[in-house]
Amino acid sequence: MTQPVRLIPLLCPHCQTPIPAQPDEVAWVCSNCQKGALLDEKKGAVPLNVFFHASLAAGKKGAPFWVTRGKVTFQERITYQGNEQKAMQDFWAESRLFAIPAFALPLEEAVVMGVKFLHQPIPMEMGKPAPFPPIVVPPQDVHPLAEFIVMSVEAERKDALKHLKFTLTLEPLQCWILPV
Ligand SMILES: [Zn+2]
Repeated sequence: MTQPVRLIPLLCPHCQTPIPAQPDEVAWVCSNCQKGALLDEKKGAVPLNVFFHASLAAGKKGAPFWVTRGKVTFQERITYQGNEQKAMQDFWAESRLFAIPAFALPLEEAVVMGVKFLHQPIPMEMGKPAPFPPIVVPPQDVHPLAEFIVMSVEAERKDALKHLKFTLTLEPLQCWILPV
């Protein structure tokens, strides 16, 4: 059975202004009060903090990301040849900052961007609101995407990875508009 699409108009949870939501969009910044809202399938739009990165003030183009710290625990690394176990354990000894693209992007490009951020994180400094493309990646998609990114980081090591078993634990997500 097909679900009817949003019978109730979405309202900003802060100021009740209607949100001109487009299909696929899952979060917004209200045009009236500038506060964030996230689509909840049951409750409608619920409050969401959206942070704008300080470097956007310099005229840089911004795009939305789900940002969080992630802790990886490895159970097994099996390779065809070589052994990068130590490099892997050193890299993941601390929890790492993840930035998962929240805008429309082919999976491969999203993973490449996520891997780049993992290797070169930027300080999370807040700035002023700036325009950004629609937020279409729901929070529940972030964990599998972050797992893809971990796999990609590990597959890039010098040994020939055959099999990897790990657990990824993510802290609560923050929505950031970051420079791209
Ligand atoms: Zn509002």
